[in-house]
Amino acid sequence: MKKIAILGSTGSIGTQTVDILPSINAEVVALTTNKRIKLLEEQARLLRPKMVCAYDEQAARALAIALADTDIQVLSGMDGLVACAAASGADIVVTAVVGMIGLLPTLAAIEAGLDIALANKETLVCAGELVMRAARERGVRILPVDSEHSAIFQCMQAAGCNRADKLLLTASGGPFFGKSAAEMRSVTREQALAHPNWSMGAKITIDSATMMNKGLELIEAMWLYDMAPEDIEIVVHRESIVHSAVEFADGSVIAQLGLPDMRLPIQYALTYPQRLPCKTPRMHLTEIAKLTFYAPDEAAFPALMLARRAAAQKGDRGAVLNGANEAAVGLFLQDKIAFGEIAERVAKALDGISYQKNATLDDLLAADKAARALAMA
Ligand code: NDP
Ligand code: MG
Repeated sequence: MKKIAILGSTGSIGTQTVDILPSINAEVVALTTNKRIKLLEEQARLLRPKMVCAYDEQAARALAIALADTDIQVLSGMDGLVACAAASGADIVVTAVVGMIGLLPTLAAIEAGLDIALANKETLVCAGELVMRAARERGVRILPVDSEHSAIFQCMQAAGCNRADKLLLTASGGPFFGKSAAEMRSVTREQALAHPNWSMGAKITIDSATMMNKGLELIEAMWLYDMAPEDIEIVVHRESIVHSAVEFADGSVIAQLGLPDMRLPIQYALTYPQRLPCKTPRMHLTEIAKLTFYAPDEAAFPALMLARRAAAQKGDRGAVLNGANEAAVGLFLQDKIAFGEIAERVAKALDGISYQKNATLDDLLAADKAARALAMA
């Protein structure tokens, strides 16, 4: 039986991971939240992990009281997250926290030789080079949960010893497909949170509206599959049925299809190389009937160009792009800045923070901090 730690178990990916557990043969050894302790307590009573963590100190104190009648260890803060990742006896860690807060626990799990089911894309955007090197050195597998990267991973099963020529990364286009930058400038929080195809956490939903999500995914794919960013094409595909595709040297394109439901890529990351029955509804091509594809509008969605720039430069640019974006999205979610200002603040950070090529972990953490400060100013 596989032992699983779920970081961010109270979020969108976390709860869907808990949802598919009965379909796979698994034992949960750790669960974490930031503040949603009521839900974490329910999950802990159901799954009986060895340890849990609430990142927020006050929430952790309340959680310890709530779980006082159990033998579950209650931890808090970054030390708690790292312990849940690396010292809970897990074989595989689902990284489903949102933001670069996931970086240190992911690195700790890799150092401990544990496989990673990676949802937390910000970790790879910030420190892809470091994380992938550590994984190679420790012989750890990074199994993608993000639907596009899972699709590419599944297509790669057909590659044999061949390298991919090109990745086709599909994008739904979000709620503002077809709008100009001027039309989008002052859209509301509610409009931006209304994603047409996927129900996800607030931060990634805003990233989908600005299309920064696809920019982050471009960088995620670059590191996961060792591809040059110019060999990754972004294709807008409104129906979210083709989850991504890979083109090979002979021109053959292999794609992965399915209804938009994260439970399938989550389950595949946890059962790979096995495929087990999954409770997601089945797709019927005749009901879908038509699939459409468009080139992305880079003038309307400047986040795409910013991410391409960071991808091409590497070094500390991913940390700067991501840190500034996390801060700006936070401000937008608090109604403090306009939608159109998110990308502007990311651009300001990329322009304002001097470039560092061979960045260490400390350099990346410093770049993240500086980018947040600049984006908040
Ligand atoms: P959610 O916001 O729904 O959940 C995030 C989880 O992380 C929650 O458990 C939350 O706790 C916890 N968390 C938030 N802040 C902190 C913090 N400072 N310290 C520790 N834990 C924290 O996010 P999603 O599930 O949507 O996304 C998670 C990750 O997966 C992201 O990186 C996202 O990009 C990626 N992803 C998500 C997809 C989706 O469909 N949702 C699809 C593909 C990728 P609390 O409940 O207390 O807030
Ligand atoms: Mg995705």
